[in-house]
Amino acid sequence: MRKYRMAVLAVAAVIGLSCQRAGVVQAETWTDLEIQAAEESTKAEEKAETGIVRKELAFSEEFPYSQFSAIHTGTAVLYENHGEYANGIVVCLNAGHGCKGGEQYKTYCHPDKTPKVTGGSTKAGAVKATAINSGMTFSDGTPEHKVTLAMAQILREKLLNKGYSVLMVRDSEDEQLDNIARTVMANAYADCHISIHWDSTQSDKGAFFMSVPSDSSYRNMEPVASHWQDHELLGKHLIQGLRTRDVKIFGDGEMEMDLTQTSYSTVPSVDIELGDKKSDYGQSALENMAEGLAVGVDGFFAEKEAQRTAESGI
Ligand SMILES: [Zn+2]
Repeated sequence: MRKYRMAVLAVAAVIGLSCQRAGVVQAETWTDLEIQAAEESTKAEEKAETGIVRKELAFSEEFPYSQFSAIHTGTAVLYENHGEYANGIVVCLNAGHGCKGGEQYKTYCHPDKTPKVTGGSTKAGAVKATAINSGMTFSDGTPEHKVTLAMAQILREKLLNKGYSVLMVRDSEDEQLDNIARTVMANAYADCHISIHWDSTQSDKGAFFMSVPSDSSYRNMEPVASHWQDHELLGKHLIQGLRTRDVKIFGDGEMEMDLTQTSYSTVPSVDIELGDKKSDYGQSALENMAEGLAVGVDGFFAEKEAQRTAESGI
């Protein structure tokens, strides 16, 4: 119904313009207007057909924790779903890395400026970490940031087809948004945040998510304290989803890690490592993993909905 009305209004606006001008312009100009009208109505129909509206969103200093970000001149892209099956849920996809010059800046690991509780790309005890690093290189020489982007774009399409809206905090080769900027934008516009990575080992060890360290000082720090259980739940669902597609899983599918992303997230938020330097990242492998992740996203939101229903006693 909504789709139909949008198309009709757009076509009516274009036809109105053509008729108004018809009496005062040359014949060939009228033809141009007709062509333009036809093109615009085709565009409107396409948009109505898919129901996806693309919006570029800038970083804002109004966002909570925005003052901790060092790089934020880039824009995120929101694919807003108005299709027949739109479910009103926004999933943020964060194609890991892909911010040139990110290593030149340092940002606080934690909003309360306490030191990191685990190692990782920055060692335990550090108060500041690289604002965003360039990522690893696969054993065939391909940079991680190219594969994370390809993966995010495949997953974006699958989620849009399921009725989700998708916030891409990187939708091109280079996006000038650091880890904190991406996180605060996800907090502001999305209902969950999934960052996509491959690990730097060389054993084809399989997929896992970075879980919240079981360190009481970390789990008691806001905003982690209010959200860590949702981060864990989302991570478990993503791994479960990957299992439905027979994706190789590392260990029990999780590894504790004190991440900048987790430290600043106020929506369910997970860093998922889909393999490592030796893993297959061919098109069919990516398609298969995207299917699995989409199943995981469905599972997570279904469980949250069930929790809400139980709490409200309906
Ligand atoms: Zn990475």
